[in-house]
Amino acid sequence: MEDGVVTGVETANGEKFSAKRIVSNIGARETVDRLLPDGHGHDDWVNEIRSIGPNICHYSLFLGFEGDVEAAGMTKSNHWLYPTGEVDAIWTDAPVGTPQGMFVSFASLKDPAHDPGPQKKYAGEIMVWSDWSTVEQWAGVPPGERGDDYQSFKQQVAENLLSQFANYFPRLAELIVFHELSTPLATASITGHRMGSFYGLDVTPRRVMTDALRMKTPIDGFYLTGQDVLSPGIPGAFWGGFLCAGSIDPKVFMSMRAS
Ligand SMILES: Cc1cc2nc3c(=O)[nH]c(=O)nc-3n(C[C@H](O)[C@H](O)[C@H](O)COP(=O)(O)OP(=O)(O)OC[C@H]3O[C@@H](n4cnc5c(N)ncnc54)[C@H](O)[C@@H]3O)c2cc1C
Repeated sequence: MEDGVVTGVETANGEKFSAKRIVSNIGARETVDRLLPDGHGHDDWVNEIRSIGPNICHYSLFLGFEGDVEAAGMTKSNHWLYPTGEVDAIWTDAPVGTPQGMFVSFASLKDPAHDPGPQKKYAGEIMVWSDWSTVEQWAGVPPGERGDDYQSFKQQVAENLLSQFANYFPRLAELIVFHELSTPLATASITGHRMGSFYGLDVTPRRVMTDALRMKTPIDGFYLTGQDVLSPGIPGAFWGGFLCAGSIDPKVFMSMRAS
């Protein structure tokens, strides 16, 4: 930045790119925490963004099946399972207790190019919504150094999810030959989203109403895009990108109309 206006981006390895306009897609909170230079002079804006908490995080259990899966009940459908009927609850006591919500999907059946081969191999996934507090104790420890208690925790989560799966899909459960768990720590590491919050900032009335999440930030030439400027998920990220492009050049809206 020079005189309060953006001038470019410098990467971690020191490469410099000059630009009059810069768009950040890494998330609003991640942007203000990681990308801004010291002394930018917009602390009120940064503090407002920091006052909005993270969204939920999740565990995924990736499954491998072998056998006649369709005869055992596998379909192309997605399954949203809420045993108590409470759709706003998340699994806060992992690895014990029952996850309040579970998403189950079988990707191979949706892929027309999938070749199950002679062993009839298929993939599936279980996803449950959770809270960062369930893994927080290992957050500062690099992967590979989290110790036996983390491995034991992961094993308990995996066993819990397999047991839930077996309740709903008993015949399919018998065909599982492989499973691999990802925790919110993996989401944080792979997507860069703080606290594994793959849906970005929490959707509260404050988040929806705040001026701090506009595409055009108070820093001249600096823009936010993606889900945090609109709403969580892929549609929110798409429209966030579209609105950001339109706020840089309104002709974008006209081109959308023409097509
Ligand atoms: C397992 C999983 C399943 C999902 N399923 C669905 C679904 O079915 N439907 C749905 O609507 N949404 C789903 N989502 C959520 C969806 O992926 C997000 O809402 C969406 O991708 C957000 O888009 P975005 O462009 O705002 O951010 P992201 O897609 O998260 O993009 C941010 C990018 O910034 C990069 N980045 C982060 N930090 C830095 C840095 N410091 N420097 C440079 N680059 C950085 C990241 O690598 C990433 O490429 C799912 C997410 C996950 C993790």
